[in-house]
Amino acid sequence: MTVNLPLQAPSAAGLVWNVTRNDAAKTAEERAAILADPGFGNHFTDHMVDLCWSEKGGWHRPRVSPYGPIQLEPSAAVLHYAQEIFEGLKAYRHGDGSIRTFRPYENAARMQRSAARLALPALPSEIFIDSLRQLIAVDGDWVPSAPETSLYLRPFMFAKEAFLGVRPAKKVAYYVIASPAAAYFTGGVQPVSIWLSTKYARAGKGGTGAAKTGGNYASSLLPQAEAAEHGCHQVLFLDEGTYLEELGGMNIVLVFKDGTLVTPESDSILEGITRDSVLQLARDRGHDVESRKVTIDEWREGAASGDIVGAFACGTAAVVTPIGRLLAEDFEIVHAGSASSELALSLREELTGIQYGRLEDRHGWMTRLDA
Ligand SMILES: *Cc1c(COP(=O)(O)O)cnc(C)c1O
Repeated sequence: MTVNLPLQAPSAAGLVWNVTRNDAAKTAEERAAILADPGFGNHFTDHMVDLCWSEKGGWHRPRVSPYGPIQLEPSAAVLHYAQEIFEGLKAYRHGDGSIRTFRPYENAARMQRSAARLALPALPSEIFIDSLRQLIAVDGDWVPSAPETSLYLRPFMFAKEAFLGVRPAKKVAYYVIASPAAAYFTGGVQPVSIWLSTKYARAGKGGTGAAKTGGNYASSLLPQAEAAEHGCHQVLFLDEGTYLEELGGMNIVLVFKDGTLVTPESDSILEGITRDSVLQLARDRGHDVESRKVTIDEWREGAASGDIVGAFACGTAAVVTPIGRLLAEDFEIVHAGSASSELALSLREELTGIQYGRLEDRHGWMTRLDA
């Protein structure tokens, strides 16, 4: 391994990054083969970025190093008490070759909110953005350029202190890794079926539902498996057994006959940046948008009367996906109509148009990472 001397000049965030290049980095041919068929979350770039935090020293030791295993003591608190948070955003290759990401300051702010809930230290937004830029500086060639492909960026933070007592850790690690991502849907976006979980919840009142933390995902795996057994792609969770919440990794929006879009409101929902952006685009087009409590009965009755014409899911990974069917233990809602699907798909087209630089970025959502 070549150890380069720390960069002489501090970065925009005032950090002096120690960069160690990966001598075993993939060759251009190997990388091209991976980028031709990346899948999702299977392959990782040549480097990773990390910083440490300690109670005494704050955030320190910013590094870029070869992607590889992390050394942890078996007693590291995260392995026992799940004190962990993460983020997810994509880097897009624009037509002029530049690399940009979408609303990263929102991810930074959300990571600070997640950190507060999980009793982890706040990572300043400038360091968050800087960490993405440092990774792109060494692994920019990993951002694919085929339509609808991207480099998925995964910042995460966890308690690494070797201590089995139960209290917030005094030593924490923050990392960013990156994984090239294919177009989520090959052969066009198909409506998905979702399973209504009535037996399990992903979060509860006062719980961690609004934080992007691994534990929420751990608790969603069993209901997700139950959904798959029923032939469904995703699970819909309810809040207090009554109100629509979210899909566990994606937010939900209902489409009404008059064009109104309604999304559930609850303090156990993870506030998606995709949802916020899609609803803004809908508002720009003149749609009424409401964020309020929605019961499962309202959806059921609305679908039966024709007032509710469809639904869609939204999140960074799948962007916007029409929901064709909701299956429950003792009932089913089918949205066969195309109007709502067309709306979902045209909002998706507009959002990805902005993300890939095909459309004007009128809200100032894009941030350049390679300059
Ligand atoms: C990340 C996430 C979402 C979607 O958020 P985006 O910012 O749109 O990617 C929705 N629900 C959960 C539980 C999430 O973790």
